[in-house]
Amino acid sequence: MPVKSDIFDHLNQRGGIIPELDKQSFTLRLRIPGGLLTPDQLLGVGRVARKFGVEKVHLTTRQTMEIPHIPLEKVPPLLKALEKSGVFLGAEHEEIVNITACPGNDRCRLSNINTEHLLMRLDKNHFGRDMPTRIRIAISACPNGCTSERLSEIGITGLREPIRNEGLCTGCGTCTNTCKERAISMVNGSLVLDTVLCVLCGMCIESCPFHILKGSDPYYLITIGGRRGRHMVQGRELIQVNSEDAAVLVVERVVDWIYRYAYSGKNLTDQLDAMKFKEFKETILREFQPSME
Ligand code: SF4
Ligand code: SF4
Ligand code: SF4
Repeated sequence: MPVKSDIFDHLNQRGGIIPELDKQSFTLRLRIPGGLLTPDQLLGVGRVARKFGVEKVHLTTRQTMEIPHIPLEKVPPLLKALEKSGVFLGAEHEEIVNITACPGNDRCRLSNINTEHLLMRLDKNHFGRDMPTRIRIAISACPNGCTSERLSEIGITGLREPIRNEGLCTGCGTCTNTCKERAISMVNGSLVLDTVLCVLCGMCIESCPFHILKGSDPYYLITIGGRRGRHMVQGRELIQVNSEDAAVLVVERVVDWIYRYAYSGKNLTDQLDAMKFKEFKETILREFQPSME
């Protein structure tokens, strides 16, 4: 039986139930932080999809899954069946949507931070919260940015600074060749770091055959107001903090600030100035980097 359009409009308001072209069926977007599923959850999605006659599920670009072509009357029982496998409905509209993360130090050799632990804390604190505008949070454990975090409304990048010990450096030049940014040069047999060119990726640290380059503790760079799509914009740098706890707190402040001051119907990128981003940044710097004042 055809579904009334007002029901469609209502269901389209929140929560990952997405009307399809034909206005008869829905795509269900799931909550899968970081794209991480246990084997049991994965089997659960497969079993439920098969039970409800779904031919294919769709892996999205933001690490979640969509189950397409579900008629209205099958939406509630399908979601109930999924919940039994520990898989829940996602988010799509003006809310905090699926949070993405790269594998981080679980397995990537370039990683500077533990992304999964941070991801799960942020998911628990913020996923699905109603917001004036859609908020994507993405985490990458190094500036390679595999989750395009700088193009997300809230981006977190793991960084590490190389620390030199000039007295011990042999001047072999291995680190110079490793740095893709040409930020290290040898001057009179001594290593010189160009802090403007250095992106704090930390790659040179492991390259030193004599273990002379040391790495700082990790930093978490937090950026705000990135945008994907047809007019891409890189997020603005808010702050670098040096612990996961501080990163979690900063994100909390950012989410509250967006909730209070952003307007509906406009991308966050386009309203940062009206929201007094500069003043907000100063407040955050005062709170989290008081010694830098
Ligand atoms: S962003 Fe960096 S750490 Fe994360 S997966 Fe990509 S290369 Fe590895
Ligand atoms: S941290 Fe990265 S960018 Fe900076 S000097 Fe080392 S390799 Fe180059
Ligand atoms: S790789 Fe190590 S020893 Fe060689 S130039 Fe770099 S810091 Fe010095």
